[in-house]
Amino acid sequence: MAATIIDGKEVAARVRAEVARDVAEMRERTGRVPGLATILVGDDPASEVYVRNKRKACAEAGITDHHQHLSADATQEEVAAVIEECNGNPDVSGILLQLPVPQGLNGKELTAMISADKDVDGLTQVSAGRLMQGAAGLRPCTPLGVIELLDSQSVTLEGAEAVVVGRSDLVGKPVAFLLLHRHATVTMCHSRTRDLPAVCSRADILIAAIGRAEMIGAEYVKPGAAVIDVGINRTDAGLKGDVQFEAVAERAGLLTPVPGGVGPMTIAMLLRNAVTAATLAAGEGE
Ligand code: NAP
Repeated sequence: MAATIIDGKEVAARVRAEVARDVAEMRERTGRVPGLATILVGDDPASEVYVRNKRKACAEAGITDHHQHLSADATQEEVAAVIEECNGNPDVSGILLQLPVPQGLNGKELTAMISADKDVDGLTQVSAGRLMQGAAGLRPCTPLGVIELLDSQSVTLEGAEAVVVGRSDLVGKPVAFLLLHRHATVTMCHSRTRDLPAVCSRADILIAAIGRAEMIGAEYVKPGAAVIDVGINRTDAGLKGDVQFEAVAERAGLLTPVPGGVGPMTIAMLLRNAVTAATLAAGEGE
């Protein structure tokens, strides 16, 4: 196996420890700590697990928990009122509405109500605009995790040829903008891209955010490239990424595994966003 395998659990643990240190330092300096409001509507078991994990990680980092659980029959107006209350609460520095919301509610409209300065998921249109323009703001967590993994291995982004496969608002587009702001030459690919293997095999940095199990084989990969696999696909053979791990490991220089690569980074970057939000609220941002 030629590639160095990036241990996302290890990088995530380091980020979480840094966040805990920053929170403690903030408490010491200002007497305040970041507060995160997770808003869960209904009883979807998967969403409950995600929210529980996020709250636990927050507590471990010293971030105050302002969790709100609404019943599955909550109306759009009731959820909106909770978001408004969190927007106006100075103790809440970050707000996260767990998606998807139950049928009958409009998750997009509710997300749009979150104040951009508290948008720790980085999913509002205002946050997306700030990202596009390179203005101070909160960026989506998984894309931030991708960049953190590349930085953990000191991968040179400036001037690098980066190819992102996938153009979702959640992953592909924000990753592409983060790479662009770090001066990579970025190509975005999607389902209509012609000759995807040829485009991908130009990449010094290849990001797969597709949602198709093991689609990216060795023929997509330039020898020595850094390959970040964002995909999480449940298959009969277990959890698989978008990349053929064994084959690509023979060709790439760096590769993330699934699980244990990008996955653990998402919560770590959420915690860092909670600190960034509190810093921005205190007028101490970049
Ligand atoms: P998505 O919204 O479904 O977007 C998938 C993208 O892949 C689309 O832009 C689509 O192109 C493109 N695509 C689909 N088939 C393709 C093909 N054959 N060739 C080239 N491009 C193709 O998915 P997403 O939300 O971005 O998520 C992508 C993957 O990342 C999923 O497996 C998801 O579970 C995973 N994920 C992981 C984390 C994490 O924490 N690790 C977080 C979020 C998402 P079109 O636009 O043309 O349709």
